[in-house]
Amino acid sequence: MEATVRLSRPVLQLTLALVKPDAVAHPLILQAIHQKILENDFIIVTNRDLTWSREASQTFYSQHSGRFFYQRLVEFMSSGPLRAYILAHEDAIRHWRKIMGPTQVCRARYTAPHTIRGSYGLTDTRNSTHGSDCPESASRELATFFPEFSEGAWAASGHSRGDFLY
Ligand code: GDP
Ligand code: MG
Repeated sequence: MEATVRLSRPVLQLTLALVKPDAVAHPLILQAIHQKILENDFIIVTNRDLTWSREASQTFYSQHSGRFFYQRLVEFMSSGPLRAYILAHEDAIRHWRKIMGPTQVCRARYTAPHTIRGSYGLTDTRNSTHGSDCPESASRELATFFPEFSEGAWAASGHSRGDFLY
């Protein structure tokens, strides 16, 4: 008799992970962050290196416009190359934000020293990485960096997006 196993396919969520200019500038730190992604069981769907214009940086962080750190954040994010990843995991958004650690560098260093920000964050602005904060942000941010993964592109391809939840 033939033995069969039914494997249910896990539903994968996608998130945008960015390595910010402070970390991309240091090859060993960039490599360590890449390693951290692999060690934490993410699938790297794709990745891309790019440098932002000031306008792109302003648009991406427009939700923070008016906050005291906005101008320096915009300057910093357009000051050098970024690496963008699409990461897939069953709980990608939360999982990546946990591995990144807290936003503020002191908090990261003292309460979560083994996280990426706890290990490599330099200041509250230069904190090594970005991660989408909810499915709606992930969908919007992925489309910004990877237009081929936008809702429209899926629809035009005629394929189902069923394996991936944004
Ligand atoms: P994130 O989702 O953890 O990246 O944090 P937010 O969405 O709240 O902020 C976006 C980015 O703005 C952060 O990653 C930091 O680079 C910067 N930022 C946030 N809060 C502060 C702050 O209090 N001071 C400074 N200097 N930068 C901040
Ligand atoms: Mg955020």
